[in-house]
Order: sequence, then C-alpha cells, then structure tokens
Amino acid sequence: MSNLELSHVYKVYPNGVKAVNDFTMKIEDKEFIVFVGPSGCGKSTTLRMIAGLEEITSGEIKIDDMIVNDAEPKERDIAMVFQNYALYPHMSVYKNMAFGLKLRHMPKAEIDERVRNIAEILGLSEYLDRKPKAMSGGQRQRVALGRAIVREPKVFLLDEPLSNLDAKLRAQMRSQISKLHNRLQTTFIYVTHDQVEAMTMGTRIVVMKEGFVQQIDTPKNLYRYPINKFVAGFIGTPQMNFLNVKLKKTEGKKVEMIFEKLDLSFLAPLDLFSRVDEKYLNGDVTVCFGIRSEHISSDPNKYPYKAMCKIGHIEDLGVDAQIYADLNLNDDDLVGESPTRIIFRAPTGYSHQSGDEVEVSFDLEHMHLFDSENEESISKLLPAFVKTKGMVKDGKVSIYGHSFALPPAMKEISDGEYALTIPTDAITAGGEIEAKISSVSVATDKNVLTLKIGDEYAFVSAPLSEKHKEGDTIKIALDFKRIAFDSSSSSFSPLQEETSLIVKVNKKSLMKEHVNMNGRVTKIKEYYCEFETSAGKIIPVDASTGLKLVNLMSNKAFKEEIEIRFSPYAARICDIDQGGIEAKLISILNYGKEKFAKCENDEAKEIIVSLDKDYDVGQNVYIALDTKQIHAYNTKNQIRLL
Ligand code: ADP
Repeated sequence: MSNLELSHVYKVYPNGVKAVNDFTMKIEDKEFIVFVGPSGCGKSTTLRMIAGLEEITSGEIKIDDMIVNDAEPKERDIAMVFQNYALYPHMSVYKNMAFGLKLRHMPKAEIDERVRNIAEILGLSEYLDRKPKAMSGGQRQRVALGRAIVREPKVFLLDEPLSNLDAKLRAQMRSQISKLHNRLQTTFIYVTHDQVEAMTMGTRIVVMKEGFVQQIDTPKNLYRYPINKFVAGFIGTPQMNFLNVKLKKTEGKKVEMIFEKLDLSFLAPLDLFSRVDEKYLNGDVTVCFGIRSEHISSDPNKYPYKAMCKIGHIEDLGVDAQIYADLNLNDDDLVGESPTRIIFRAPTGYSHQSGDEVEVSFDLEHMHLFDSENEESISKLLPAFVKTKGMVKDGKVSIYGHSFALPPAMKEISDGEYALTIPTDAITAGGEIEAKISSVSVATDKNVLTLKIGDEYAFVSAPLSEKHKEGDTIKIALDFKRIAFDSSSSSFSPLQEETSLIVKVNKKSLMKEHVNMNGRVTKIKEYYCEFETSAGKIIPVDASTGLKLVNLMSNKAFKEEIEIRFSPYAARICDIDQGGIEAKLISILNYGKEKFAKCENDEAKEIIVSLDKDYDVGQNVYIALDTKQIHAYNTKNQIRLL
C-alpha cells in the first residue's frame, strides 16, 4: 500500500525559471496517473521532484504519509524509467535486470527468482542471455522496465518511456504497460506529451501548461468537461472546433446563438445554458463556442441546429472521413485556417468533394462555452456560484419560494428586491428548500447534482457513496453568511472569508538541553519563528509551522515581508499574555448559529474573528492566530509557503 501526496509544490530553478507552480494532488495506491502537456510545461520537473532527483523550492511531498522532501532518492522506494533507457551494453538481459539488486546485496536465489518472474511477465524469458544490441527497440525498452520492476518499488515513475519507438511499437507497448500496471498493482506515474497515450493509459490525468496544473481528472471528464479552452483543445483529435458567438436570452426560455462573421444563428433551449452566468446571455459579450468534430453530423437532419459549409479537403481515414470545411461560404481559401473553419466526421463513402456546399447539423448537447478573455469554461460541471432573486421585507427574505428570517447580522438589509449570488459550496444538503434532481454527473471524487427549484437551476456536490437519481427530490440549505445581496440602490457583502496581513518572519533560536542514551547532557540549537506585524507587534508561531518556514525560507528571506491569510476560524480573541494582534472590536456579526467579531487593528485593517462567547463592541481585544491553519505567500515571487 502506498499513496503519494504533493501539497503546493513549487520549483524555481536557480536561473529564475519557475518550472512548477502550486502542484497539489493526492495519488491513491495503485492509480495510473499521467502527466500530460506540451514540452516545457513542467512534467519532468515534477516527476524528478517526486523521485528526489530535484530539490523542491516550496511545498511538501509525502509518501505513505511521511514527508520525504529531504529524503534521498534511494530512500524513497521509487523506480524511474526514462526515455533514454541506458542499458549496460556488455551485460546480458539477465545481468542488466539483476544489477540493481546485486548492488543491494540481495541473496542470489532471490534475485534469480525475481528476475525470472518479471522476465516472464514482460515476455523476455527467452532473451535473458542476449546482449541489448541484439534486441529490438521495444525489447530493450521492456528490459529497462524490467530492471525497474524487479526492485518492487512503491511508486513507479516513467518519463516518456516510449517516445523513441515507432508508432506501431508504441501502441503495443502502451497496452503492455497498462497490463503490467494491472498485474503489479503498484502506483504508476507516467509522463508524456501525447494526449492519446494519456487518454488510453491514465486512470487520472494531470494536464499541465507553462508550469501550472490546468485540470486533474479522469479521461472521460477531461473530454466531457474541460475546465478551459486549453484543455478542450489539447484533449481529443482532431482539435475541438472553436467559433465566436454571442448569446442572447429571449422570451420563452430560449437562447439565440449568433455566430460572428457568419450568417448563422441557432435558437436553443435555455436548459442547455443552465450553468452559464446571466452576464454572458445579454447578447453583448462574445464567447468562444467549442464543438468536437464527432458532434457535428454530416447528416443535416440528425440535430435541429443546421449550418451550411463549404468543403475544403477530405481526409479519408478508412473507418470514417475527416472533412475540413468553412462555415463562411464566401471564403475561397480552402486550405488555410480561418476562424470559421470546422472539421467534422462523415461515414466512409461520403460522396461530396472539395468545393461542395453542404449542410451539417450540430449536437448542442455536447457544446462547450468559454470566456473569450480568460478562456475559462463558463459552463463548468460545478459552477462556482448560482444567481437568483431574493425579496426582503420586514426582516425576512424570500428565496426559492421560501421565507427565511434574516439573521441579526443581516438585519440592516433594507426592503426590496435583490439579485443574490450564492457560492455553490454554500448550498448544502438537508434544509428547508425542496429541489428536484434533474441530472446526476459523476466527477472524479464526487457526484454533481443539477437541481431544479421551480424553473431555476442550482448545483450541489454529493459524496459518491450517496445514491441519488434523476427525478428524486432532496432538501437543501443555504449558508446565509456567504450570500451577496445586490440591488440598484444598495448591496450587502457576504462575510469576508479571509483576512490578509503583511508580516515579517523572525527566525529565532534557543539552546535546549538534551539527555542522550548515556545520560550525558548536550545542548542543541532549536529554531522557532515569530511573525512581526508592520506595527511591530509579535504573533507567536506554533513549532511545526515555524520549523516548516525555517526549512523553506533562505536566511535572506527572513528579513523580507510575506503575506499571511487566515479564515475567521483560525483567529480568536485571547488574553493579553498570550500575545497577539492588538485590535478594537468594531461590531458583532450574529448569524444565528455562528457569531463573529469585526475588529480593526492599529493599521485600520479589518480582521474577522469567530467568537465562542460574548464581547462588548468598542472593547480593545487581542487576537491570537492558530498558525497551523494559516496560509502564507512569498509576495515577491508568488510562491505559497504554507
Ligand atoms: P517538460 O517535461 O514538461 O517538457 P520540464 O519539466 O523539463 O518540462 O521543464 C519545465 C521548464 O523548466 C522549462 O521551461 C525548462 O526549460 C525549465 N528547466 C528544466 N530543467 C531546468 C534546469 N535544470 N535549469 C533551468 N531550467 C530548467
């Protein structure tokens, strides 16, 4: 059993290249994880940090719940296979495979048993006496795999192991490696720039770009719910078609889709846009529409959304044909790429030819929509928030047809109609609002329920263990402190979720006496840290967080400022002798079950603190931080430290 966890791992090379940013992922035992992305996106660096061949700049790597940041590669029980598998040319296959075990002084009989066993699995039994040069590329690559497997590592790392092989051999080795994974039941991490390799081998895939993780998901979800335009374009061949479109909500629960530069528009049901924020549906904003070639049919009657296009060229692939066409019928450049070019699939025997104008139809159930500026999906499986209306009257608010008493902290909201923004994670199961499940989608680690409340949509995530089905009703609750109220004349903000402070980290040490086994007393230097606010106030830091900072920060960095962020739950009001931030209690925010204090420190910075008893407004207080729960960022190079 072994699992692997990377928390906020960064790599900045000495030349300043930030190769990996904030890589966070938990890999369970026996998973087959693929890191995929264009060359230079940080895949190998991440793999090498896991192997211990590259030091990490910040963050934490754990194997079997043990932090291995400083462990030597050989202590990590990890085996790595590279693209350039250097076999020893003068040694036989047997000796190549046995070499590592011999170095570890394993008894001969055990080495023999392991080598023969793995050779059998890899189909190398009859080649054990051969020298590498008398073998094919694929066989040599299997020897390289065998050499790593005989060590029985906890985690198996493969860095583009197939990229030197020809296409046919690659396909063969791909399925062999997948089979091997099934047999060995060990965690595999596999690096490739080839999305087909990723999609066919991975149980989960990490898509990376320019040092940043874009999405971590199953192949199916990456294909179905790409989180941004980059992932959408990277996964799937041929590349997804992208077109510019404006969306306009019309009367009668429809959305008019007006394609730019084209005489083309569709009138689609509003239901297809249930996840899309209203601000994209006013007809003014250009959004990016994406559709895969397999979701455009050469049969104009297959779907109700029809378009004429002019065929450029046809690639007949035998099983079907890939048609390059342009929706702009006036475009005479049939070879180049225009913003209105599409690729679609047609069955073999497709009779049209280059230059023909034909009608196709679009399967809008499978369309994708992206923000044109930041290229994020605007139709994510689990949207960040939903919007609805709320009617406030006499201290009550009516939402989704239910009337709720406003908690005391929200009493100042004046009567009237408000647009409410509710974060999706502020909607939880088990409340007063009845909702109908209109669909259940399986995400990697949860189910996403699409809910219908009257004719409005909401979304909630539910554990995979809970069985929900379409058509069932569930009850949901809203976390009022997280809802934003806006109207033309006034607005009310949700409770501030985080306070951010700029502090310096002071590194301190003290000599501690240790008694060794012989009873002799020695003195050892122990380090700890303190935060110092801009006003010179000291905030104590717990020992384990302090030690982490000492390990992460260079001596020079201790004199620089860092940003700390904490939630109201990491802050509490304490006695003066416990140290802490001096502040004045400005107001009490009573949300019924929970109470918070809004405080202001001597730099007029607002700090929200959760309360477990009553305090007086206007009182001077000291705020203690649970530094185990805070986040810290190096402001200079945007690296997360805690
Ligand atoms: P990938 O495996 O995805 O192709 P790498 O992890 O090899 O990408 O590289 C990520 C980035 O880090 C690239 O910009 C690369 O040039 C840079 N890089 C890799 N190794 C070093 C190094 N030893 N020193 C400086 N920069 C490096």
